[in-house]
Amino acid sequence: MVQQTLSIIKPDGTQRNLVGKIVSRFEEAGLRVVAMKRKLMSDHEAKGFYAVHKDRPFFGELVQMMTSGPVVIMVLEGENAVLRNRELMGATDPSKAAAGTIRKDFAKSIGENTVHGSDSPENARTEIQYFFSATEIG
Ligand code: ADP
Ligand code: MG
Repeated sequence: MVQQTLSIIKPDGTQRNLVGKIVSRFEEAGLRVVAMKRKLMSDHEAKGFYAVHKDRPFFGELVQMMTSGPVVIMVLEGENAVLRNRELMGATDPSKAAAGTIRKDFAKSIGENTVHGSDSPENARTEIQYFFSATEIG
């Protein structure tokens, strides 16, 4: 089933100039970038995007990290894109991520873990709409 999912290259990834390397992994895995923008997320935007985590002890740290530098936000499209992207990313904690995953190879820590990816088709739809209008995707 062809799906779309939201991917974000986090500030630790843009800061280390890893955008091309990360996008190549998606493309080589058969995912297509159908929307892309680079921007500095506002505090309000980051808090809204991660609202599901607002009661977690790391919420403040997470919002600070996501607004600490530019991010690259993408819509990826392909067969089983949601799960495929999560497989390419690897586990949240890079020390637990499988060999060959983006987080294993690039993440600095459980917080600065280089990429975000939607965790379900429902959340993917919500997250895509949070950052892109329909006319920006194609
Ligand atoms: P994932 O990004 O793998 O879906 P979560 O949704 O659980 O992981 O968490 C969202 C983000 O919050 C993580 O990617 C990471 O940047 C940050 N985070 C999660 N757990 C911690 C933690 N224990 N300490 C600091 N930051 C964390
Ligand atoms: Mg998550």
